[in-house]
Amino acid sequence: MELSILKQIKKKAGKIFENKLLNTGSVLAIRHWELSGLIEIDLHLPSVDMQNWKQIPYIKFRVDGFSFRDYSPFGWDLETSTCSILVDSAHLGPGSRWAQHLIVGDTVFYFRPESTRQSPHPTDCVVGLGDASSVGHLLALQQLTVPVSRFDMAIILDSPQSELLRDTFSPVLNILSNYDELACWLLKQQYSIVNTSFYVNGNNELVVALRKLLKKMGYSQIRVKGFWS
Ligand SMILES: Cc1cc2nc3c(=O)[nH]c(=O)nc-3n(C[C@H](O)[C@H](O)[C@H](O)COP(=O)(O)OP(=O)(O)OC[C@H]3O[C@@H](n4cnc5c(N)ncnc54)[C@H](O)[C@@H]3O)c2cc1C
Repeated sequence: MELSILKQIKKKAGKIFENKLLNTGSVLAIRHWELSGLIEIDLHLPSVDMQNWKQIPYIKFRVDGFSFRDYSPFGWDLETSTCSILVDSAHLGPGSRWAQHLIVGDTVFYFRPESTRQSPHPTDCVVGLGDASSVGHLLALQQLTVPVSRFDMAIILDSPQSELLRDTFSPVLNILSNYDELACWLLKQQYSIVNTSFYVNGNNELVVALRKLLKKMGYSQIRVKGFWS
């Protein structure tokens, strides 16, 4: 009995919270990259002013009851108020589950987008590094890098769909299957020590390891943000 009253209060509080604080948007299209665990979701977010997205944004979505998860919008279009997110769903969690169960036409709930405070260096070669959870973030970095020819990126993702992902998202998306491969790839690139800025995102341990490696290689312009541990 007590439990059911508590449930009702929780439900009511949730509704008030939903109506007052959360924005709504709708799912326009979904693509499941089955072999990579990635789920690409196209969204219409009518209340978002994307014009101010000069730094890489992230959006806190309600994924379950009172649970929220951050995802990185990319490929945004100011006129139609649309963007996409790429959710790494190859693990168990409310965020993964939410993405797996979304269907076209669903309503999504989210807080006002926030900034990661990362924006591309105005003149350096911009290099994004990360894992499956940071593909969206790195594609947003690419979108903000002008001219885009100054941009390069590499992620760790064990997927037989590498070429298709590259063809779909970006010709400079390098996909390596593990940390050692990524380290070798970095050594081969011979980026200029003085004119290269790195942006490292994704799993916390990976971010720390890559920062250490880059420092050892002599680089100093390194921006990092851990996404999960
Ligand atoms: C600013 C910012 C932007 C982000 N953008 C994106 C994005 O665009 N796409 C995206 O997929 N994620 C993104 N993330 C990460 C995402 O918010 C977290 O990974 C989130 O914790 C996943 O939620 P979950 O409910 O699925 O798993 P959780 O409940 O958080 O975790 C459950 C278990 O899964 C593990 N886990 C969590 N995430 C992963 C993962 N990606 N791969 C393997 N294991 C994992 C955890 O260690 C834990 O053991 C972003 C995070 C931040 C801070």
